[in-house]
Amino acid sequence: MNPCPECGAASGACDELFSALLALDHSRTEPWGPLHGVSVSCYFLQHPGRSAASHRAREWELVHAYLDGGLAAVAWTARRARSENSHRGPGLTTPAMPAVRAVPPTVFAVTIEEVAVDGTFPAGGFADRVTAWAAATVRAWRPAA
Ligand SMILES: [Zn+2]
Repeated sequence: MNPCPECGAASGACDELFSALLALDHSRTEPWGPLHGVSVSCYFLQHPGRSAASHRAREWELVHAYLDGGLAAVAWTARRARSENSHRGPGLTTPAMPAVRAVPPTVFAVTIEEVAVDGTFPAGGFADRVTAWAAATVRAWRPAA
């Protein structure tokens, strides 16, 4: 297989790995379930061709919430989005976008391949690998100074 044209993963098996990760997420067990939103956001921010541009601000918000405040901040962000989106709420507000490169990066220090390790996303160290994935995503997208 050829390397992934979007994230640069050597195996190019990002689709297969993402499907495997989603299956684990949907089992709702730890450590995968609680990190679902962060994992999906990292994946789409490294594969922007596969998600709607209108989702981008929400993906950034989750990744930054996780890097700044861990899972507690992610849960808070999700609760706020849910309450805004309820029929009693003010309607969903779009979070502010961080300053990012105009052209999506295609090289990341950590890709879904590293998070998957042997393709099975082992539980041991999973949260740490997702943190490294999120940090690498933010770093690569940061505009050149
Ligand atoms: Zn990829």
